Amino acid sequence: MKNLENLVNEAVILIDRSENATELEHIKVRYLGKEGELTKLLRGLGELPQADRPVMGNLINQAKKSLDEALALRKKIIEEKDMIAQLEGETLDVTLPGRGLGVGGAHPISRVLLRIESLFRSIGFAVASGPEIETDFYNFTALNIPQNHPARAMHDTFYVDSMNLLRTHTSPVQIRYMKNHRPPLKAIAPGRVYRCDSDVTHTPMFHQVEGLWVDENVNFSALKGVLIDFMQKFFERDDLPIRFRPSFFPFTEPSAEMDIGCVMCDGKGCRVCGNTGWLEVLGCGMVHPNVLKHGEIDAEKYTALAFGLGVERLAMLRYGVNDLRLFFDNDLRFLEQFN
Ligand SMILES: [Zn+2]
Repeated sequence: MKNLENLVNEAVILIDRSENATELEHIKVRYLGKEGELTKLLRGLGELPQADRPVMGNLINQAKKSLDEALALRKKIIEEKDMIAQLEGETLDVTLPGRGLGVGGAHPISRVLLRIESLFRSIGFAVASGPEIETDFYNFTALNIPQNHPARAMHDTFYVDSMNLLRTHTSPVQIRYMKNHRPPLKAIAPGRVYRCDSDVTHTPMFHQVEGLWVDENVNFSALKGVLIDFMQKFFERDDLPIRFRPSFFPFTEPSAEMDIGCVMCDGKGCRVCGNTGWLEVLGCGMVHPNVLKHGEIDAEKYTALAFGLGVERLAMLRYGVNDLRLFFDNDLRFLEQFN
């Protein structure tokens, strides 16, 4: 009797102290298992006098029942404790401020390109593209650039092999476009171009937009009209001063450089415009008959105007950026300002 009571007390203390399901299982085996202490007592009943057996058997069964209950209760408590610990471990504090998602945006050069494209589309120009690896023929010969022209020199051009190169301008697209379309045609060719050059105002890769308009009576006034209108819209200034200066390009005749009044100093003279009050923004002219011939256009019947501008140059002026290389450093502190 005494032995049984002690056994139950001892077991209950152990159960109450147990910390996890494994410990609990060990206790169960120790007292109620096949070789458990209570099981052994039950088995020992046979050695007791016949009269004592029912009473003792009853007591042992009660003890067994109370241990079962204690085990079940403890198991429930441990499970609840585990659940609370798990929930606390996974706490989500909904009152914390969010980390926020970084909102991406178009690169400033892409923005300017899209703006240029939409302005030219609005006056009927198509947008054409072509390969960045060009043949010597399309990059130079078809554009009336003779064999000995300095633009062909190795220090300006990245050659892939003796016949192929990274295009130095987007003008080859004009030749390809003329070959595939019949006049009247109007198209711009935006894209990446490559030259061996690197300083504050030059990068080995930069962007150009070239334009071409072929029709029966296209003349220099049309050229001026298109370009003046474009520049004033691009800089959102109807009174933007503009001038044309005679120039030379192998692929146009006559050729001109177009200047705009300095948008930094309003023409008063500053470091950006070299105190002249004027900024050179693009080259243009009437397309040379030899170039039309290479584009399989009848140069007797049609005339054409062409122009080419540097996208980075316009982006620098529009956004007031003084170092071209900033556009390609991929520094988010710089790029985020344009979003
Ligand atoms: Zn200026």
